[in-house]
Amino acid sequence: MISGNEIRRTFLDYFAANGHEPVASSPLVPHNDPTLMFTNAGMVQFKNVFTGVEQRPYKRAATSQKCVRAGGKHNDLDNVGYTARHHTFFEMLGNFSFGDYFKERAIELAWNLITDEFGLSKDRLCVTVYHEDDEAHDLWRRIAGLPEERIIRIATSDNFWAMGDTGPCGPCSEIFYDHGDHIPGGPPGSPDEDGDRFVEIWNLVFMQYEQQSADRRVDLPRPSIDTGMGLERIAAILQGKHDNYDTDLLRKLIEASAEAIGVDPDGEGRISHRVIADHLRASSFLIADGVLPSNEGRGYVLRRIMRRAMRHAEMLGAEEPLLHRLVPTLVGMMGQAFPELGRAEPLIRETLKLEENNFKRTLARGLRLLEDELERLGDSAALPGEVAFKLYDTYGFPLDLTQDALRARGRGVDVDGFNAAMARQKAEARKSWAGSGEQATEAVWFDLRDQVGASEFLGYATERAEGEVV
Ligand code: ATP
Ligand code: MG
Ligand code: MG
Ligand code: MG
Repeated sequence: MISGNEIRRTFLDYFAANGHEPVASSPLVPHNDPTLMFTNAGMVQFKNVFTGVEQRPYKRAATSQKCVRAGGKHNDLDNVGYTARHHTFFEMLGNFSFGDYFKERAIELAWNLITDEFGLSKDRLCVTVYHEDDEAHDLWRRIAGLPEERIIRIATSDNFWAMGDTGPCGPCSEIFYDHGDHIPGGPPGSPDEDGDRFVEIWNLVFMQYEQQSADRRVDLPRPSIDTGMGLERIAAILQGKHDNYDTDLLRKLIEASAEAIGVDPDGEGRISHRVIADHLRASSFLIADGVLPSNEGRGYVLRRIMRRAMRHAEMLGAEEPLLHRLVPTLVGMMGQAFPELGRAEPLIRETLKLEENNFKRTLARGLRLLEDELERLGDSAALPGEVAFKLYDTYGFPLDLTQDALRARGRGVDVDGFNAAMARQKAEARKSWAGSGEQATEAVWFDLRDQVGASEFLGYATERAEGEVV
């Protein structure tokens, strides 16, 4: 059986043999885009190359990019544990052409890799194209020999990619694998496309236009290619599994945590095992790239991920802090491909351990309060916003942790009520500043802080000062 590490290697070797420069993954904290919380795709490190602002000594590149999708436009946090195919941290394999080859070669390269090198059966594959993109449609017919009904035209923005309101953009084409009719879900474009039967494995973006203003779009003189394939998703297929969490990229972590707690990895608590494995990867890689838990910005997303994992460990019956004990297993699995992980191992362990120890007591107390409140409410309504806010304010429960705890019981939180309670507390805090004699400054500061979050605001100002393109 081919391992996840071998698949990554095969991908990079294949593209190197086809004239691509193998480029290391960039860090999860993007250095060139202050508007982006975490690197969430392979193209992020190449943004300025695509726009022509930055030159590189190569025209073709291939990467296995670390990605986190736990906030902002792409947020898969709530999918984790529940779908077979989503993680907060995953690797995106990608090949890129900077004004070099275009659609035809991109389709050829992708098709040959998955059918020849990886040996996927053509009968299991289907693709989507943007509804107006006859060129891509015809290329799939000719190169892949796919029948008409398995080249699906999609009219939504799912198949039209844009870097922003202006800049490079173009149609995309996604490749799907059919895991079989024993799994619920329909083909792309159908009403039940969100099921796990047809899994999107690879997205090919054809950057052929430049949006110059809201109503002006021109052809790019030298169009480019950006692609992304989820390593964990292709690994599932090549390892004969349906579920990413059953691949060697995650399974060993699930087994290690089940063993540490002394429970069955396949027993009840299946969702918790998956959340722990996923969140351990996300937390460890974020810490290795310099993010530390805090109460705002990136650090708060990390804290939310860590605390969510801790609740799931608690639910599985872990009596001792668990996460930091799993770090050596993770480093053993991924340290070779990502040396920064090994270098940061002591920091990751200490950071997790500290957060686990700090949160342990309030977690247990907060969960008790939650149980009491739910009992009082009976089995009906949403949790009142005031209670969710108390859990947040007194017990350090991020809102999403409370929501996650209620989700398994089919209940929600009154989010408006939560926000109102938060706003009231902020107003109180503001009042207590009134005596400082600097009301005006303070008011401006609090407003800015509310709008953008303190660390984001500073980050933006510094980046701009350095003359970065925003
Ligand atoms: P989906 O529709 O399944 O959510 P997507 O269209 O949002 O995927 P893209 O933005 O096209 O994903 O990313 C490129 C590839 O990265 C996808 O084809 C998929 O293989 C992989 N991928 C995307 N999101 C995730 C995730 N949360 N976990 C694992 N792999 C992912
Ligand atoms: Mg998605
Ligand atoms: Mg998609
Ligand atoms: Mg996609």
